[in-house]
Amino acid sequence: MNRKARQIISKAVRNNTLSKEEIILLLSCENSHNYDLFQAADLVRRRYLGNAVHLRGIIEFSNYCGRLCRYCGLRCANKSLQRYRMTADDIYKAAVDACVLGYRTIVLQSGEDAFYDADTIASLVRRLKELGLAVTLSLGERSYEEYRLWRKEGADRYLLKHETEDPLLYEKLHPDMNYTNRLNCLYWLRELGYQIGSGCMVGLPGQTPEMLAADVLLLKELDVEMAGIGPFIPNPSTPLATAAPGTADMTLKMVALTRLLLPRSHLPATTALVTLAGDGRERALCSGANVIMLNVTPLAFRDLYNIYPNKERADEAPAAGRRQIENTLSALGRPVAQNAGHSPKRKFRRAAG
Ligand code: SF4
Repeated sequence: MNRKARQIISKAVRNNTLSKEEIILLLSCENSHNYDLFQAADLVRRRYLGNAVHLRGIIEFSNYCGRLCRYCGLRCANKSLQRYRMTADDIYKAAVDACVLGYRTIVLQSGEDAFYDADTIASLVRRLKELGLAVTLSLGERSYEEYRLWRKEGADRYLLKHETEDPLLYEKLHPDMNYTNRLNCLYWLRELGYQIGSGCMVGLPGQTPEMLAADVLLLKELDVEMAGIGPFIPNPSTPLATAAPGTADMTLKMVALTRLLLPRSHLPATTALVTLAGDGRERALCSGANVIMLNVTPLAFRDLYNIYPNKERADEAPAAGRRQIENTLSALGRPVAQNAGHSPKRKFRRAAG
């Protein structure tokens, strides 16, 4: 890594800012020269958040989706996928089991599935809050009123990745969606008092370093409490079946840069990164990440939540999965966080568009 890159990294460690040009320069450094960047991100993570790693239990409760995202195996046009929906009681039972295993946060995730109406989700949120759990929702774009109701019932966080900050690329990848709507949902969620999570894919067809830099800067501008950054992995049942995947190295650089700019945000070591590179989780945890999302969906459904293929640990029971992660963390000298990992309240920002 050259002298200029080192100076830029030192500055970012000091004041948590980078210009677009500086991010592009760091993204373009040779892979073998990124040790300084990863080390700096690790230092910032340690300084602001300590060593503890938050384990979140994720329940993928429906793989039905009404959307057509060109990279995703859940897209409604994929007729080869066997679909499933869990009942509210089965979702609740999976959450109780996860709670017994020690999870303090449950993430409820699904495709955009209108089958679950606002009241069904509200009642689930209420029941999970009665268990003393932090509740994160990841249900896609819904109406302001729905978001408001779920927040009123106690939902703490909402994940809605922006996927790419480039509106043209966004609309190419999401033929039935609109970038402005996406951002507006994030602003609504912020206004309603959710801790918000967004994030992007790395290595999308047509994506440039300039676009990736804009992704990092958008996460900074939104001041997200959580940022999920994972590689693009082509799914054979989608229109992007033959596209080249993203790389682990570029994904790790994006995680590290996001950590430099958002020192207090929660950054997961994403499952997609582990799918792409076996040691991706450990590398992400040493490059700024401080969260692991573990799948606590009943085993019968795991393989069917097939956004991308060969998902890690699709056949591992929740107890065994958690034990293994605890061993991995112990080897890294990283304890499991004992609190729910809430973020300090952020200021509301005006809605876009
Ligand atoms: S990315 Fe989300 S909204 Fe798009 S098809 Fe997949 S599950 Fe549906």
